[in-house]
Amino acid sequence: MKTNIINMADKVIAKTYNRFPIVITRGKGCTVWDSEGHAYTDFVAGIAVCNLGHAHPGVSKALSDQANILFHVSNLYYTVPQVELASWLVDNSFADRVFFCNSGAEANEAAIKLARKYFNDKGNPQRNRIIAAEKSFHGRTMATLSATGQAGIRHGFNPLLGGFDFVPFNDIDALKNKIKPSTCAVLIEPVQGEGGVRCPDAEYLKDVRRLCDKTGALLIFDEIQTGMGRTGKLFAYEHFGIEPDIMTLAKALANGLPIGAMLAKEHIAAAFGPGSHASTFGGTPVITAASLEVVRTLVRERVIDHCLQIGAYFKERLLWLKHRHDSITDVRGIGLLLGIKLKTDGGPVVKKCMEKGFLINCIQGNILRFIPPLIIKKDEIDPLIICLDEIL
Ligand SMILES: *Cc1c(COP(=O)(O)O)cnc(C)c1O
Repeated sequence: MKTNIINMADKVIAKTYNRFPIVITRGKGCTVWDSEGHAYTDFVAGIAVCNLGHAHPGVSKALSDQANILFHVSNLYYTVPQVELASWLVDNSFADRVFFCNSGAEANEAAIKLARKYFNDKGNPQRNRIIAAEKSFHGRTMATLSATGQAGIRHGFNPLLGGFDFVPFNDIDALKNKIKPSTCAVLIEPVQGEGGVRCPDAEYLKDVRRLCDKTGALLIFDEIQTGMGRTGKLFAYEHFGIEPDIMTLAKALANGLPIGAMLAKEHIAAAFGPGSHASTFGGTPVITAASLEVVRTLVRERVIDHCLQIGAYFKERLLWLKHRHDSITDVRGIGLLLGIKLKTDGGPVVKKCMEKGFLINCIQGNILRFIPPLIIKKDEIDPLIICLDEIL
């Protein structure tokens, strides 16, 4: 079966991913199994998506219950799960309104459109430029690609969408110099994910907030990777004692079902009226019903507190590894968004870990990223540490 599937994939699937040669057929909690029956402890979690682990019974039940009632009717009508999920998000964040879509890139598209529309409606359409950070990642659509500060990702797609400026992440002076009366928004990940698990200094985001307040630019946080408990708070901004004006979510919001959300304060959200923006599938009942169960489970099972504690333990173990191996030059991250920087290419380490039954991820060539389900336990982390110790 394995060879068949892989051969067939090579013929019919677009070549946009370099895949590892395993076929994953099943998952439970923090473990997945391949077609040959090998088990892997999953430190990738579908790229920071399956926060409650695989095949979570409560989420599966919510999904199948809703699937037997109503799949989809469009946003021409009200549906119950969508309203309940939006209410939960509003009650648990800075925001007053939610726009639902189907992915992270779409959530950022919505945020970019809203920021421009907001100033347009204020009679200032010239105020339309957005500042993003170098090494950021905001998605693969034309607009979000244009907002992404990585040359490799942008290469080959000119002309990109205009109106984006870039500054180094975590450098407030660079932002001060770049921000102009034409800047409508600053778009930033509170912790850069794909860019290398890069945390800002304690004061940086506060200073960004202050600068936005002073100049009137909107602050957009892309919490697509950091949101929904990943950093040990529901949203990463809570670590920094500030709030954005707009926030985007996706990845873990429905534990693996496609959903995106753009959240905003009332006076900003007001710039989106009927016809301004839309999505056929956005907030569709099956997915929002599952997502509602995801967020309720996060609270009921105190998953985020667990993430904070187990993340601190994990990081301590990674620091122990660093102490033992000169090949590790840095340990970074917060909650269960963790990384170690290697002197050399991380590819071979990922491969060896897989052979030993661990899925881990390498970004930017030499940074190993660990983004397991938030329910991971010590006795699942310890074997990985031993494995890495042996490999390194
Ligand atoms: C994954 C990610 C995106 C893009 O999300 P998609 O669902 O793949 O479109 C955008 N921003 C950040 C920070 C991400 O981690």
